Amino acid sequence: MAYTALSHDLLQRMESQNCAVCDLIKTTTDRKLDLLLREHVTDIDFMTDFLRQEGFCEHHASLMLKKQDPLAHAMMYRQLLDYRLRTPKKRKEASICMMCNDEKEIEASAVYTFASSLDDDRFLEAYKEDGIVCLTHFEAIRKALKQTKSSFSPVFSDITLSKYDALRDVLNSVIKKSDYKYNEALLSSSERRVWKNIVALLIDQNMHRNQK
Ligand SMILES: [Zn+2]
Ligand SMILES: [Zn+2]
Repeated sequence: MAYTALSHDLLQRMESQNCAVCDLIKTTTDRKLDLLLREHVTDIDFMTDFLRQEGFCEHHASLMLKKQDPLAHAMMYRQLLDYRLRTPKKRKEASICMMCNDEKEIEASAVYTFASSLDDDRFLEAYKEDGIVCLTHFEAIRKALKQTKSSFSPVFSDITLSKYDALRDVLNSVIKKSDYKYNEALLSSSERRVWKNIVALLIDQNMHRNQK
């Protein structure tokens, strides 16, 4: 398939040492929340959807809360308060949070693009050198490769599994060095990074989207 703008975006995220798909979803969500706070809180269409969906899910409501915008929150939640008190019976009709919905779409196209970009030498090489994907997206990309009968499935699996083997070695080393008494100064920069990064690679970052 053609090397698209999304392929390029994913390729550039490979340097972050995080899953490129998760990273894309997170930064896109962050940008959207900023935009909502800046421009859409007074937008009638946005507020209609926000009320109909009874606000965001807990995950996205917390993310927005961290942005510390009292005025926008007061405006949004005053309307939601009135709506919820006025229409308690509509609760069952609440649909999936709009931010979750957007994330699902981004995720689907990122997974598909990732899988189909592996036949591009630059992309494959960048993944081999610097990339990693979380286990959730590892499975999703493998599934996409299988569905499209791509011949890149074994190479993608081999590269990814060898990266996880390397991460296991780093974790072993952290454990070994901490045997006597934990001292962060004893850890190398990759050890300091990996014991934290592994959490997001192994714990499904998509759980909040699968609750409804
Ligand atoms: Zn991921
Ligand atoms: Zn959500």
